[in-house]
Amino acid sequence: MTMHQRVCVFCGSRSGHELIYAQAARDLARGLVSRNYGLVYGGGSIGLMGTLADAAIAAGGEVIGVIPESLARAEVAHDGITQLHIVTTMHERKALMAELSNGFVTLPGGLGTMEEFSEVLTWRQLGLHDKPIALLNLDGFYDRLLALYDQMQARGFMSAASRSLFTVTNSVDELLASFLRH
Ligand code: AMP
Repeated sequence: MTMHQRVCVFCGSRSGHELIYAQAARDLARGLVSRNYGLVYGGGSIGLMGTLADAAIAAGGEVIGVIPESLARAEVAHDGITQLHIVTTMHERKALMAELSNGFVTLPGGLGTMEEFSEVLTWRQLGLHDKPIALLNLDGFYDRLLALYDQMQARGFMSAASRSLFTVTNSVDELLASFLRH
């Protein structure tokens, strides 16, 4: 990717029980900013989302948040970012996040994070976009999801081509390096 491109990051609205998750969110934010990538994310100030945005802002980066009106209170819409888009629905949120970005990164998170990751993956499977997708399998967090994908493939529900639509990395450094190759 070249300068002025933006990476969309999906991650938990909670921080998890281990500090490694927040550390990875901070490392990713700084790594993106130092490589001149803007950040697009869900616009909240809590959990890993907040940690990520705070670290990117502190590093002097561009941070664009997209939050639905209905969640602006629950996820405490961030008031210190470059730009906050307040949209009406969850669907609009994901569509705008995708439109504003040149690639997608998924950190550990919960159901919402899974939903977002699955959507950009299935959109790519359908040829609706061709942007890189990376999964950060920090400390084996997504091992069981990957095992499920292996099972889908082994039992004939997923093609090998679909399985290769995203990259899996175990560290933020590796992830940033793999993104730079795209
Ligand atoms: P979670 O991983 O559950 O902490 O959620 C991460 C983010 O995904 C939060 O900002 C959620 O509001 C968001 N989210 C959850 N479900 C959806 C959905 N269907 N469409 C868009 N965003 C969602």
